[in-house]
Amino acid sequence: MSTASPNVRPVISLVIPVWNEEAVLPALYARLLEVMSRMGESWEVIFINDGSRDRTLPMLLELHNRDERVKVINFSRNFGHQIAITAGFDAADGDAVIVMDADLQDPPETLLRLIEKWREGYDVVYAVRIKREGETKFKLWTASIFYRLIRSIADIEIPLDAGDFRLMDRRVVLALRRLRERNRFMRGLSSWIGFKQVAVEYERAARFAGETKYPFRKMFRLAANAITSFSHVPLQLATYTGFVLAGISLLGILIAVLGRLFGGAAFFGGQATTLVSVLFLGGIQLIFLGIIGEYLGRVYDEVKNRPLYVVADAYGLDESQRLGLFTGNPGISDPDS
Ligand code: UDP
Ligand code: MG
Repeated sequence: MSTASPNVRPVISLVIPVWNEEAVLPALYARLLEVMSRMGESWEVIFINDGSRDRTLPMLLELHNRDERVKVINFSRNFGHQIAITAGFDAADGDAVIVMDADLQDPPETLLRLIEKWREGYDVVYAVRIKREGETKFKLWTASIFYRLIRSIADIEIPLDAGDFRLMDRRVVLALRRLRERNRFMRGLSSWIGFKQVAVEYERAARFAGETKYPFRKMFRLAANAITSFSHVPLQLATYTGFVLAGISLLGILIAVLGRLFGGAAFFGGQATTLVSVLFLGGIQLIFLGIIGEYLGRVYDEVKNRPLYVVADAYGLDESQRLGLFTGNPGISDPDS
């Protein structure tokens, strides 16, 4: 572990989660250098190594040794993308913090436009994808459904087609540090916080190298976290469905009684009808049990109150940042203002 030098707070902090990204790191660093030198302000980049099994960590440490603006947080295992971003926010010291992917899908050139908007006085500048290269039809389609679904049922306004690529002012970051929920959907939290927000449009490139770390299973998890974190509509659906089914049954009872009185024995459909309607209701009940389970499981996760992540080592951070990371209790007040 390198001993921390007394850090001067940079203007811009970049937060980049990395998981098995050895194939993209050299190109990423080169592009960052080029773009950030055009900006002409002080900056740092915090890589969060999310339990990589390839050469990502040694490569990051090499960059850190060469360039003291490169800082590294090394997780004890893979904790997931959203948690890695969180650790970045917990450590980032800049006046503005920018989160981006490592794979150059979020073109570093767009950074300058985010910073420009921030200079104009916006607190959160989020990048909206107007085009996405190199994604499967299936991913585009499910993403599109997801953003529209969450928009229609969430308690807060979550912008369409905006990923995690965004800039946040230090005040927003300090507010974000107070939100310690486990099943995190950072885009939602970032909307929840409020402040002056603005969108910047960009074309999302294809992944530079390597493979997506978000297979369908994880996308689904993220979507479920997003919905359960920001909406109770799935729970309320049980109530609505109950009312509708009870209404229909009432009608059914009426028809059955009338049929019995006036229609004769031939009126009744027999066992098949009974079986099908019982199974149908059983299915609906199981679905809603499952939905309650989704919420209950998350409540249980929260109650256990485990730390969000465990840091094995940190490189290039000062003592207070390190303390925040290792205790999972980042500073939420701003000592410099
Ligand atoms: N990532 C991570 N931990 C994970 C999954 C992903 O740190 O468990 C990082 C990954 O290295 C990349 C970013 O999160 O920098 C976004 O992942 P990816 O590009 O695979 O997602 P996609 O763009 O395909 O949605
Ligand atoms: Mg990507």
